[in-house]
Amino acid sequence: MAAGNNTLVNKRVVPSLSEAQRLQQKTRLAQAVPHLAAAFAQALSRWQGDPVLRLVGLPFVTECYRSPERQNELYAQGRSKPGPIVTYKRGGQSKHNVGPPTPALDVAFRLADGSVSWSGLLLSKFARLMKAADARVVWGGDWATFKDRPHFEVLTGQKGGVGLG
Ligand SMILES: [Zn+2]
Repeated sequence: MAAGNNTLVNKRVVPSLSEAQRLQQKTRLAQAVPHLAAAFAQALSRWQGDPVLRLVGLPFVTECYRSPERQNELYAQGRSKPGPIVTYKRGGQSKHNVGPPTPALDVAFRLADGSVSWSGLLLSKFARLMKAADARVVWGGDWATFKDRPHFEVLTGQKGGVGLG
């Protein structure tokens, strides 16, 4: 029996990161405070252990540390520059501007066709796993005012970025 060929035909395409993307993710995770990186690793492993979730998309870290300069550029977007508003924090006010180690990271999903998704449904499913992994994880999708669904952060001794950056 040509089992090998049959397996190929029936094989479902599982979303994956390229070698370069894997390396980039490792670098980003290394910037995160250890318990946030650990929560991500645990949530990711649960996600990949789920027969359905592992096929719909692969969670990956799009950003961790962000320089105050880059934060100011993002703040300008939707205000003095074109584009949608993506943040309400100026340089130095975001948890992304702390560190490294940085107490915040943003997540998106790599799909099987190589594209990137910020699906609110997938993010809420991943948020459940992140919060289960560590009770200190706060999900931006739970915020009452500006829902920042790709965003996860952990509480630190430092107060909300005041006086930082
Ligand atoms: Zn964020």
